[in-house]
Amino acid sequence: MHGFSPDTFLLRRTQVLGSLGQGALVLASAPRLHRSGDSELAYRPDSELFHLTGWTEPDTVLVLRGFADESRTILYVAPRNAEEERWTGVRHGPAGAATLLGMDDVRPLERLEGELAGLLAGADRIHARLSEARAGADRLGGVVFRSLLAALAHARARGGRTGAGPRGIVDPGGILDELRLRKDAEEIQALRSATRITVEGFRTLFAALARGEVRTEAEAEAELLRAFRRNGGSGPAFAPIVAGGKHACILHYTANQAPLRRGDLVLVDAGAEARLYAGDVTRTVPVGGRFTSEQRELYAVVEAARASAVEACRPGRTLQGVHEAAARVLAQGLVELGVLEGDPDLLVAEKAIRPFFPHRTSHWLGLDTHDPGDQVVEGEPRPLEAGMVLTVEPGLYLPPEGFLPGVDLPTPDPAARFRGLGIRIEDDILVTDDGPENLTAALPTDPDALEALFAEAQG
Ligand code: CA
Repeated sequence: MHGFSPDTFLLRRTQVLGSLGQGALVLASAPRLHRSGDSELAYRPDSELFHLTGWTEPDTVLVLRGFADESRTILYVAPRNAEEERWTGVRHGPAGAATLLGMDDVRPLERLEGELAGLLAGADRIHARLSEARAGADRLGGVVFRSLLAALAHARARGGRTGAGPRGIVDPGGILDELRLRKDAEEIQALRSATRITVEGFRTLFAALARGEVRTEAEAEAELLRAFRRNGGSGPAFAPIVAGGKHACILHYTANQAPLRRGDLVLVDAGAEARLYAGDVTRTVPVGGRFTSEQRELYAVVEAARASAVEACRPGRTLQGVHEAAARVLAQGLVELGVLEGDPDLLVAEKAIRPFFPHRTSHWLGLDTHDPGDQVVEGEPRPLEAGMVLTVEPGLYLPPEGFLPGVDLPTPDPAARFRGLGIRIEDDILVTDDGPENLTAALPTDPDALEALFAEAQG
């Protein structure tokens, strides 16, 4: 349960049942994944199933029946099995799950195949993720998939006579994403843990970097991961990016092998996972602890864009508004540095900054690093509300000549002195009624403060 109270999950299930109308919802646990051969990756519970149950064991199916008078909530879990538990760990079994989760209808998984299609017979629609990958991933996925089809086929066969039974499968995102978009007090606490551990990891890394103990991207990654685990995180929420020098121009660089060179910047984009919630932070710092003048000039533009975008994270504003706040400052900065010419607003509108800033400024943050939730609702950008958590991560990337295909530089290149630099700065922001709360503010973004942090560690 990761420290969440059973009442939290009961409240969410009650909300979902209320949204289902005459429909039903089926959620299967994430499959176990193999890294190679028969060695398994560490199991990561399905975010949606966890959000509604707090349950973290594989081989689980939740069925919610909005149309039904009884057995509205049923959980199928793997039964206890001495032989299997010896290999893969202790399970709770149906009785244990019922006690732990405070649910009264928990059934052994072997009953699922015979019961599921029948349990769905009275629904007018079924909310379920229809995924070929999940259907083929393991036996459970196959059973759920065939049961959904059987429920539809059964309704089709008799529907003409009775007018009853499910007539379609609907993606559950419409209901579940809305719930996950607004974080409750317990989720915000979990996000505070994840972001605190993330910030501590960066501080540990920067101190080691300043003392000369970290000389490669690989060592930097190891330092971060060590700190995440030591400080109570379950590990990284996603594959860390440790990109020295020009590697920072590759947005999702994860090779993390090259030497770090004094005089270069290193871009680090990483987050700890704690209680299944994700932190997601980026800092770009000088390997040797001092920015060069070119680095500092370009950095100042990105930092100003970050600050402007954070200020825009207020109720009533939109992700598009946050993005435009960042983009406008970046465009203005590129004009001032002589990289672009023209009116900053026009440069944004005409996408002239795209070659330098090719990604969006924000994504939602929560159980998933890229948490779900539509950014546009009924054709209009969704207004931000208190309780939403998002990243703000503007960047500027100027790959050197010949580094990436398709990047043809003009001669003379007005950006020549910035070539090889990639800078991104990312904070995690909680929207409150009083404005933005920066969950990662304890890790400096100001270039002077970063240099001071390095100088302090160097003694
Ligand atoms: Ca990130």
